[in-house]
Amino acid sequence: MRRLLFMAPARRWAEYREVLPGAIARAGIKAEVSPEVPDAEVDYIVYGPGDGGPTDFARFPNLRAVFSLWAGVETVVGNESLTVPLTRMVDPGLREGMVEYVTGHVLRHHLGMDAHIVNPDRDWDNTAPPLARHRPVTVLGLGELGGACAGALATLGFPVSGWSRSPKTLPGVTCHSGEDGLDAALSDAEIVVLLLPHTPETENTMDAKRFAQLALGAVLLNPGRGALVDDEALLEALDSGQLGHATLDTFREEPLPGDHPFWAHPKVTVTPHIASETRPDTASEVVAENLRRAEAGEPLLHLVDRKLGY
Ligand code: NDP
Repeated sequence: MRRLLFMAPARRWAEYREVLPGAIARAGIKAEVSPEVPDAEVDYIVYGPGDGGPTDFARFPNLRAVFSLWAGVETVVGNESLTVPLTRMVDPGLREGMVEYVTGHVLRHHLGMDAHIVNPDRDWDNTAPPLARHRPVTVLGLGELGGACAGALATLGFPVSGWSRSPKTLPGVTCHSGEDGLDAALSDAEIVVLLLPHTPETENTMDAKRFAQLALGAVLLNPGRGALVDDEALLEALDSGQLGHATLDTFREEPLPGDHPFWAHPKVTVTPHIASETRPDTASEVVAENLRRAEAGEPLLHLVDRKLGY
């Protein structure tokens, strides 16, 4: 009988205890999952600590693998006490939620909805918004989430460009890659969506030089990670008018401190890291499948590349 330590806040356990044991049983594995397992008896960890703080994995002498519940693994990937395989979460529910958030917020800005929702002067401006096919959108990061969002936006008619580390081909998306590809991906974009992981290479991807490459009055959506953006450069670009708006879901410090300028800025929308979330029912199937693979000695799904950091 294998033992899985569920290392996540109690409210998460309340959700997963309903679905994870069943998924493990359906995978044909005899294993017990619990938030309380003596360190020496832990075979696997289901990992989703609330504060993302460092964990000393050395205290689990028999640990075989760590299955992260989160797609982003920047708080654990560099942990030197972690010497066993680490997998990240690729979850259909998480993907669906992100597609809904991104298309919703892109459409908000594309259609200029704010002007009609908040219109204290009862201004009758009957200028119709342009069609999607005249609004270039760029998605940085074409992985599980960025790729799905780029595809959904292309289906709506937007001319979509995307950028990834390695070359990609996605239907309806003009794909760029590598350092040189970023210039082409950002050039004249009117809406930019950040869905890169936070790694040493992606830190401050959006800085003053990059904001200047966008169309005047462009909109930034950042459901990726706060550290992808140079915050000072962002505020300057908003204040100068180079950027028209920023919808931010992720921040360098979370919760975003109450006195942070983003809260009060008229051109910033703050959403509290709710763009999407791992869904316990679908994610449990992913964890169970990886447990089955680990027990069978098969390659794990969604293995994190510790060198690349994602
Ligand atoms: P993936 O690993 O599937 O995709 C990451 C993409 O970024 C890939 O296309 C990758 O390129 C690209 N990339 C990585 N490094 C570079 C680089 N140096 N230069 C160019 N491109 C790069 O991740 P997901 O799509 O699953 O998740 C993306 C991020 O979304 C997560 O890391 C997390 O930070 C964030 N997230 C936010 C949530 C929220 O609620 N706000 C919820 C869940 C995730 P390549 O394809 O070549 O590998």
